[in-house]
Amino acid sequence: AMRWALIGASTIARQYMVGAIRAQQGEIVSVLSGSAERARELADEHQIPGSGTDLDELLANPQVDVVYISTTNEKHLPQALAAIKAGKHVFCEKPLALALDDASAMVRAAEEAGLVFATNHHLRCSGSHRAMRALIASGRIGRVLSLRLHHAVFLPPHLQGWRINAPDAGGGVIPDITVHDADVARFLLGEDPVSVVAQMASSGLGEGVEDSAMSVWAMPSGAMVMSHESFTHPFAGSGLEVHGTEGSIFARDVMTQNPIGSIELVTASGREAIGFDHHDLYAEGVRRFHAAVAGDGEPAATGRDGVKSLAVALAVRDAAARGVRIDVNYGG
Ligand code: NDP
Repeated sequence: AMRWALIGASTIARQYMVGAIRAQQGEIVSVLSGSAERARELADEHQIPGSGTDLDELLANPQVDVVYISTTNEKHLPQALAAIKAGKHVFCEKPLALALDDASAMVRAAEEAGLVFATNHHLRCSGSHRAMRALIASGRIGRVLSLRLHHAVFLPPHLQGWRINAPDAGGGVIPDITVHDADVARFLLGEDPVSVVAQMASSGLGEGVEDSAMSVWAMPSGAMVMSHESFTHPFAGSGLEVHGTEGSIFARDVMTQNPIGSIELVTASGREAIGFDHHDLYAEGVRRFHAAVAGDGEPAATGRDGVKSLAVALAVRDAAARGVRIDVNYGG
């Protein structure tokens, strides 16, 4: 069994990742937190044998093969670099870092050490997104003209902390959700955004960071992407539409953490419901990561994918802040 250590006593670890790791026969050896009490509490809740606050001690444990990093965003860089130095494979939360150079440095360090580095972009692991990608690749909708991403949701009260008031921890809806949407666009269309225009706002929750953003991205093929993220929309629901010369795809409730939603294809022959697999998104990410560590293929979303999604999000924020079109800088 693959032996994991959790770096970060987070909500996402509790709610999804502990279960996902165990569903793939992973063993969780210990959990690290900035607070001994929080670490012990999570360990007790989930029957994890070890807990602590000392990163070097955790990384010196030869029983740990891989780490899952789900701390606040400014901590990902030092923790990932330390884990890589200790020879551990890394499954890292998005955004990988606050700055592009930092994200690139993490990914490069893993590559140089011959370690697997994965980014937790769960949406591309879903049956719904895979079905849509296959539909597009098969040519059913012809040439893709546009993609509309609807990802304006309501941040639940228990998560209304650093995300809405701590720019230094990587708060704001752009690092939180636009990175996912960038990954979705790249995954569905198989190409990387070239330039973006954008506006951002604080619409009720954000204190010193944006809680809403709208942007438009130009793709190399000429396709246009429209993307909307927010923390303040209780009833909007999520979804996406892909419009092509021969058909349109309408997907509802597919920008979520759960294997739900529906997809409809509309062409000259009429409307058709598209079926898809309803497996757990996070467990699928863990499955691909385990396989990659065992030498079989790549993670569902690689470190490079995490660098690119961050690059797009940073361009969106820059474009919104400056009121100009920004070319996406993917780094060297
Ligand atoms: P949380 O706020 O739940 O946890 C983040 C950190 O906050 C923890 O590591 C913990 O620090 C600290 N913390 C938790 N509770 C307290 C508390 N009561 N007092 C003080 N500090 C506390 O964040 P999330 O789980 O929502 O997000 C964590 C990371 O995962 C982020 O990078 C986020 O972007 C990402 N994420 C990704 C998702 C995905 O689908 N891929 C979904 C949700 C989040 P410590 O470790 O020191 O205990």
